[in-house]
Amino acid sequence: MVPRTRTRQISVGDERTGIVRIGGGLPADHDMADGSPEPAPVSVQTMTAGSTHDIDACVAEVHKLHAAGADIVRLAVPERKDTEALPEILAQTSVPIVADVHFHFRRALEAVEAGVHKIRLNPGNIADRDQVVEVIRACRQAGVPIRVGVNEGSIIERKDKQRRAEELGALFGDHKHGSLLAIMIAKLEEYLDIFYDEGFYDICISAKSMDAAVTIDAYTEIAKRFPHPLHLGVTHAGPKETGCVRSAAALGALLAGGVGDTIRISYASDPVYEVEDGLELLWSLGLRERKGAELIACPTCGRIQVDLFTLVQDVRAKLADEIALPVKVAVMGCVVNGPGEAEGADVAVFAGDRRGIIYVQGERVANVPEDEILDRLLEECRAFEAKVQSGEARLGEKKVDIVPPDPEGELGSGWLKMAGQRRGATDLTVGET
Ligand code: SF4
Repeated sequence: MVPRTRTRQISVGDERTGIVRIGGGLPADHDMADGSPEPAPVSVQTMTAGSTHDIDACVAEVHKLHAAGADIVRLAVPERKDTEALPEILAQTSVPIVADVHFHFRRALEAVEAGVHKIRLNPGNIADRDQVVEVIRACRQAGVPIRVGVNEGSIIERKDKQRRAEELGALFGDHKHGSLLAIMIAKLEEYLDIFYDEGFYDICISAKSMDAAVTIDAYTEIAKRFPHPLHLGVTHAGPKETGCVRSAAALGALLAGGVGDTIRISYASDPVYEVEDGLELLWSLGLRERKGAELIACPTCGRIQVDLFTLVQDVRAKLADEIALPVKVAVMGCVVNGPGEAEGADVAVFAGDRRGIIYVQGERVANVPEDEILDRLLEECRAFEAKVQSGEARLGEKKVDIVPPDPEGELGSGWLKMAGQRRGATDLTVGET
């Protein structure tokens, strides 16, 4: 992991919702007398899927996304009736709200007037200088930051108008996505000049593409050139099933390279998945402190002798409902690689022939039939969590080395069959396959 790229910092929210800070760490000599505070944790954003003017449904969706872990929620405001709904939505919700504005700068003015916490503008469809200046002045007066989002799809038709693009095109001449990068950066330079001329720096930048490689290249180049925090995303990534891979490839590469201050994963699916997967990405990279249990599970193979897929799904759902602390739980299909792969797990089960042996911080606590594994494992997770809460145990502290079960007896006949094939190789060791 590369250290986070230093940027200016913006603040989104108010006293009632709490303030979410984005970016930070730029030193004092960068146009700022005091410099920016240390980089804030990378935040997770999402966007409601329903109509904003349907107030009750919109409020319910915002609550759902906030409960799922969204730090910031964005709402589309295509029509006057959408911005008219904002005061009531803001009064009934407690998470920072961003108004997503396209085409009509008046929607931005109305949203600021309504009290939203951030505005998203698209240079591809709100480009008139006077209109942009009007929005900037309203935002400055209200203390509202602006995200400038140059999506590939919305700027591409303007390429003939970008003289600077030709200069940048030469700069990126050898680059695979050079001409597109040149257009994006030219558009950003041109647009941000309006903001700088107004002395407005509460800016966040996004440059999304549907292509993971273009997304990586665009953000990497933008991070080198602009001092503003970056909102990462792959746009139109598709349904969760495929979009998660494309998003994780692009955003994971950027975040691991120190680029990115807030993320939105976009799916043509329930936006709750966007929040869940965004958080999991940040937890996986160690960029946010995990909330709730972490599940480790073996991928299964020909040694499996229980219905591990069902068990893993059941364990996952129950842990999400019942365990608040980041307890590490391992569900392993057998004792061959199980102990090695579960090293460091607080609670682990290694399955055998329709049985499972359960360990808590390395200590064996139960050997139960398959239909009792789920209940017993959760019982042990709850008991362990209670011990952590009372100070009797600490997360991640293995007390004893795991002693694998006797492969020829405790886990049943199926394992005996496998062990039988290995007779003569009786020194079976942990980690061997
Ligand atoms: S833990 Fe056992 S069952 Fe699971 S993948 Fe590894 S060897 Fe196969």
